[in-house]
Amino acid sequence: MNSNFFDKNEPTPIESIVYCLENGQQVDFAIKRDDLIDKHISGNKWRKLKFNALAVLNDNNYQGIASFGGAFSNHIAALAALGNQLNIPTLGFIRCHEIDINNPTLKRAQQMGMELVPLSREQYKQRNQSEFIEQLRQQYPDYFLVPEGGSNDLASQGLKELAYEISEQSSGDYDYIACAIGSGGTIQGLLDAMPEQKFIGVAVVNDTELLTRLTNKYHDRLIIITDNLTKGYGKTNDQLNHFCLNFYRQTNVPVEPVYTGKLMYQLVKLLGTNNAFKTTKVLTIHTGGLQGIKGQIFRCQCRPDQWQPIIDHLDF
Ligand SMILES: *Cc1c(COP(=O)(O)O)cnc(C)c1O
Repeated sequence: MNSNFFDKNEPTPIESIVYCLENGQQVDFAIKRDDLIDKHISGNKWRKLKFNALAVLNDNNYQGIASFGGAFSNHIAALAALGNQLNIPTLGFIRCHEIDINNPTLKRAQQMGMELVPLSREQYKQRNQSEFIEQLRQQYPDYFLVPEGGSNDLASQGLKELAYEISEQSSGDYDYIACAIGSGGTIQGLLDAMPEQKFIGVAVVNDTELLTRLTNKYHDRLIIITDNLTKGYGKTNDQLNHFCLNFYRQTNVPVEPVYTGKLMYQLVKLLGTNNAFKTTKVLTIHTGGLQGIKGQIFRCQCRPDQWQPIIDHLDF
């Protein structure tokens, strides 16, 4: 088996950056560069998929891994690439009425050997319902089913490793660790693995039920900032695009508008304009997801000429 594929995974670096806001105010914080783990299996998706993949490699009942995602999903992109590396068949249930093979995420997933199955909006809504899951299990008995975004119990083991890496590298001297919140699996995994640590989460999905649940569970260990900048998940605008490009120019750290750009935007605003956070030491997690830039360009949400330097930097 190829399970020693994961052994080459060295701890990702923590870098200190300085960012200068338009008002001249400078902010500095540290970034855990999980985007550097692997070009295609990046960031938190690597962390979350690792123990899922190992479980499947060690379990003769399953031949492959199936999961769910939108048409530009980082999770789908990562799963397809991981399956390709480990020789595990992968199946992607995609929220779309038909598979658009010009979509860069789906095209690449297919090239990586993933079988793509379109699910209608109505079907996709049932993705967490036991009846629907049971039906898929019967239809695809050889596939281990991972939920959308990859957040399950096996994923939390990978996040424990991330937490361990951070504490080894930094001996716990950050006031806050910040990361983006999608399904919430990443921040919950870290909150549970680091019970003494406080967190800042930037929500990129307006899922009030999830955010209420997180607040009720973690109280004042967690500050949640909601996205008031764009019109919802996956959306960007000139202001956010401008910020991402500027952030890259100043720090040489590429970010994208769906997750890490929103995270950095809210964070520099907080550190640069809120006096209570003036001397706060923050570590942000770069959760990767840079493949999404190609999707944003495909959807005409980002201009290719403006983003070319980042595309060149990423070299994929
Ligand atoms: C999926 C993803 C997230 C969200 O992670 P959750 O565990 O779902 O909260 C954050 N950043 C990037 C780059 C992602 O791809």
